[in-house]
Amino acid sequence: MSSRLKITEIFHSLQGEADTAGIPTVFVRLTGCPLRCQYCDTAYAFHGGEWWDLERILRRVREFSTPYVCVTGGEPLAQKACLELLALLCDAGLRVSLETSGAMALAGVDPRVVRVVDVKSPGSGERHPNRYQEPAGLRPTDLVKFVICGRADYEWSRSKLRELALPAGCTVLFSPSHEQLPARDPADWNPRDRPPVGFPNPPHQVPPWQRAGGRRGGPRR
Ligand code: SF4
Repeated sequence: MSSRLKITEIFHSLQGEADTAGIPTVFVRLTGCPLRCQYCDTAYAFHGGEWWDLERILRRVREFSTPYVCVTGGEPLAQKACLELLALLCDAGLRVSLETSGAMALAGVDPRVVRVVDVKSPGSGERHPNRYQEPAGLRPTDLVKFVICGRADYEWSRSKLRELALPAGCTVLFSPSHEQLPARDPADWNPRDRPPVGFPNPPHQVPPWQRAGGRRGGPRR
């Protein structure tokens, strides 16, 4: 029997961040997450979902006729068969990204996948599960994100960034937590401190274009 994954939704939308921002992308949202970040905007993916075998997922992704696919959650790596899915999508010639929290081991992730790793700051309430050894294994094509809930998170993230042995060229984003921190605040702090980071637009939240039509337009993490 082929491997299966519990899926919350598969939808077509625009990528919201990184160098593929604005590019039509298929999002595959896996069900379940071991964390409970206080700002989580996808709590509906914690439970429920439907079992899909991997070939059915690939068929559904291909129906959207776009080469970009983002595997997200919940926490996609919480389900073992996610590694098989990532390899299958890559083998199909798709450009695959994976959105995962900094709490998960990245061993076994297909090297063709762009990894987007969300390092949890203290304001998330989930800092302790962070695996700080993981970012050192990232490549210049990968991305590290810190969701910032206030000035203390900004300072913590700046300090943590100095400690992490990130490869040269790896993109770093400081993403203001939606409705907790005005985007202009870190933008004001940045010119003085100048950490080598970007500020995504929109800030950490499900982009409005993904929310149309109820639960993410019929989608992200
Ligand atoms: S890791 Fe992501 S899905 Fe899980 S609780 Fe945190 S924000 Fe929500």
